[in-house]
Amino acid sequence: MLHSELIQIIHEHFGLTALKLTKINGYENQNFTINTKNKKYILKTYLYDSILKEELDAESQILEKLIGNISIQSPVPVKTNKNTYLYVHHTEKQSYLIRIVSFLEGTFLGEITCEASVSYDLGIAMSKLNLELKKHHFSSLRAKKSKWDLAHFDLNKPLLKFVENESLKSRIKYFFTKYDTEVRPTLTALTPQLIHGDANEWNLLSDGSSIKGIIDFGDMCQSYRICDIAICITYLCYDKRHPLEWMSDFLKAYHSNDPLTAKEIHILYYLVAARLCTSLCNSARSRHLDPENVYASSSQKNAERLLNLWFKYNPILIQNMALEAIGLKTLDSEIDAEKILNKRSLFFVKNLSLSYSEPINMKSAAFQYMYGLKGETYLDAYNNIPHVGHSHPLISEAIYKQQSTLNTNTRYLYHQLGDYAEKLLSKFPEKLCKVFFVNSGSAASDLAIRIAQAYNKRKKVLVMEHGYHGNTKIGIDISHYKYANKKGPGRQEHITKTDIPDTYRGEFTQENAGHKYAQKTIQLLSGVENEVSCFISEPIVGCGGQVPLAPGYLKELYPHLKAKGIVCISDEVQTGFGRLGFDFWGFEYHGVIPDMVILGKPMGNGHPLGAVVCSAELAEEFSKGVEFFSSFGGNPVSCAVGSAVLDIIEKEQLQNNAFLVGDYYKNELIKLSKDHPCIGNVRGSGLFLGIDLVHPNTNHTFYNLAQHVKNSFRKNHILISTDGPDDSVLKTKPPLCFNTENVDQVVTELNRALERFDYNKSSH
Ligand code: PMP
Repeated sequence: MLHSELIQIIHEHFGLTALKLTKINGYENQNFTINTKNKKYILKTYLYDSILKEELDAESQILEKLIGNISIQSPVPVKTNKNTYLYVHHTEKQSYLIRIVSFLEGTFLGEITCEASVSYDLGIAMSKLNLELKKHHFSSLRAKKSKWDLAHFDLNKPLLKFVENESLKSRIKYFFTKYDTEVRPTLTALTPQLIHGDANEWNLLSDGSSIKGIIDFGDMCQSYRICDIAICITYLCYDKRHPLEWMSDFLKAYHSNDPLTAKEIHILYYLVAARLCTSLCNSARSRHLDPENVYASSSQKNAERLLNLWFKYNPILIQNMALEAIGLKTLDSEIDAEKILNKRSLFFVKNLSLSYSEPINMKSAAFQYMYGLKGETYLDAYNNIPHVGHSHPLISEAIYKQQSTLNTNTRYLYHQLGDYAEKLLSKFPEKLCKVFFVNSGSAASDLAIRIAQAYNKRKKVLVMEHGYHGNTKIGIDISHYKYANKKGPGRQEHITKTDIPDTYRGEFTQENAGHKYAQKTIQLLSGVENEVSCFISEPIVGCGGQVPLAPGYLKELYPHLKAKGIVCISDEVQTGFGRLGFDFWGFEYHGVIPDMVILGKPMGNGHPLGAVVCSAELAEEFSKGVEFFSSFGGNPVSCAVGSAVLDIIEKEQLQNNAFLVGDYYKNELIKLSKDHPCIGNVRGSGLFLGIDLVHPNTNHTFYNLAQHVKNSFRKNHILISTDGPDDSVLKTKPPLCFNTENVDQVVTELNRALERFDYNKSSH
């Protein structure tokens, strides 16, 4: 519409003389400011829609009712000379709805750095607004369904496709999942009421210490007051250094006028996240439609910042802080913790060990964070089973969908088995083309030994010093780490152990160490080669203290063993699936191709999934024996999960992340070692690293120091463990979504812990 046309409408139908009409940018509809001689107004135009007409009419009626009944200013609607709130303007092509409201003078909250008192004042203002809104009922607003209403968060799901960053997309999806389980059941039990629906920093006017006004009631709808509160808190906290303090003050004030319930508080954490995700989905869409849209990019940045921070907060922490702010009873974690521990000692024995002298009670986890019962958040720098991240929504979805469709066993036909096998085997050299699915690394190593022994009809197994391969009878037999333990059963006669080719503390540490170790192993077998069935080892020996086999070792040893008919098995339970960064598999890291590979842990991201991958030749021989059947191995749910893991690694480029973040991690640790001579060696690859702690300037293991560091990490909420023959190597192998900020947190804490250690008191 032309300016002149609008000026005429304003005059004719609203009785105002517009001296100036200025277009306001950034809105989907055309909006203008009107300057008259004495006052300023806002003119809003909309394409005609009969439902919208009813909604706008309701909105104007409510605006009228707010005047004098709330503590802050709100726009006053201007009626037409026919005593209506809307003027319907027909042109040849289109019909428009036109309305005018008063312009509120003042500064937006988003424009200023405000004092902390604003949060309290906002709490009071919003409570009064909500109490007033609660009194009004309009069927048109009750019927309104908006993607900005957190009660209809799901309406944003289709917008996920516009989020380009796949890891961000997964983090948003996580909150969609949590909404289903945590929010919806509670929300539907609450009493609905009218809410403003968009009390963000650009809709609130403030003088820096208090709230003066609220504008834009265009998102008003029949929803729940806790949704409105969540929206307010989101934007209040957005850019704050200590957002939770702002949240608490707001809630305290709100509650003093319009008391909240514990039920509402329970879902607040997830509703704030839902608002951030709504904002992210919509700004992604806006940027997709208009890549130059500056507003969308800046709001995306803010929302992403708070979303990342939100993951660092334990939901229980938010819940308890909020409950405390309004004077309600917080959750009692002590009682729960006691019950859990009691049942544990009642039904289990003590060699089912617990980490730390004060064990951690875990409540939930998301990506690289784990949340304790007491409200504390742990940065997980240790657990490699949740490879693509704890509670990854695509894993949960894969399990749920398949489990609620079909879960059966390999004696029936279903496409998931072959599809997953194809996808998994595509990650291997052509020669490794057959797979057996089982349910653990132990079952896989057990089966691998059987396959090897069936193939060459030999019994002897060559194993690696400090190696660990599983908890079955065969698993223990071949795990030097277990059988040689002082409580272990000792070495079986058919087991030959070879020295770990350790270039840091072993017999050979020079450039040609790999060659020397290989020759030593070859010597060891001299004369009995024809009795040895197989050789099993990890590419980087985890329980040995993250010791990479010396470069060149496998490259020299494998051809020799293969020439003697000995099957070479690579245990990739720890090192596989891109963890090492540059290489997808540990055997690639050593430039060799084994005859057989064992998979486990990360393969199902926590779902019990293991496999043996081998050559056709080996599989063929094994197939001549008794039937191979695993009740759960390769079931459709497992296949769906395994397939999802591979997809996520690829989509989220997690191998590359392991490479980049791992490289940064290792370099930062090496830098730190320059200041701390007790860091004897930093080794490993990608996100599979070991930090060998020693008595300064020696390579003597330093058990007490490692335990001190491990415990101070625990105290400061970082999960890291120790391993190695003297339990003196810090082991870090986090979920692959670990980032450089997480690395900085670990390295800073390591520095602090090392600085705090009292060398005079501890000599071991
Ligand atoms: N191999 C290696 C290298 C392992 O680290 C483990 C488990 N720690 C296993 C095999 C056994 O796997 P699971 O515990 O799934 O049986």
